[in-house]
Amino acid sequence: MSRISWDQYFMSQSHLLALRSTCTRLAVGATIVREKRMIAGGYNGSIAGGVHCSDEGCYVIDNHCVRTIHAEMNALLQCAKFGVPTEGAEIYVTHFPCLQCCKALIQSGIKTVYYAVDYKNHPYAVDLFKQANVKIQQVELERTEDDKQKLEFMSSLIKKLAETNMSEEEVQALYIKADRLFS
Ligand SMILES: [Zn+2]
Ligand SMILES: [Zn+2]
Repeated sequence: MSRISWDQYFMSQSHLLALRSTCTRLAVGATIVREKRMIAGGYNGSIAGGVHCSDEGCYVIDNHCVRTIHAEMNALLQCAKFGVPTEGAEIYVTHFPCLQCCKALIQSGIKTVYYAVDYKNHPYAVDLFKQANVKIQQVELERTEDDKQKLEFMSSLIKKLAETNMSEEEVQALYIKADRLFS
């Protein structure tokens, strides 16, 4: 039996948290880890008890949803609320942090940022992480063996369909859909 790595374990947890997001623009999850133990988690959503974007639509100003607190901030604030030190901790986040979160992460003593997906990676954020000696590393979520087999099966089916008189676009769309289903 193959064992899941710590990186994959914590990144999976962040992807799971992202499913709790209430903002319809982007679903992000973040897990703060210290000595291989999860100490806090967050997703992007409204303040506790507030209305949700998923119910009322986003509150957009200058092309940003201003209702939500970002996943990284929520995870840090959970630590603040319950008095858990973040000095020297690491964070696993589904998307590359925005500039505001970048600064908050640096200032709270986070030493390593693992992220799954590149997301408008701000050059100033990259620069600040570097200046502050914060390691940034991409950890993509791996597909499980089961998903790999399903995807292979879907691909073989699509290949068969492509031999019929389907258009190139239709075939391509099916590949994209199958890929999304198992990623
Ligand atoms: Zn929103
Ligand atoms: Zn952010």
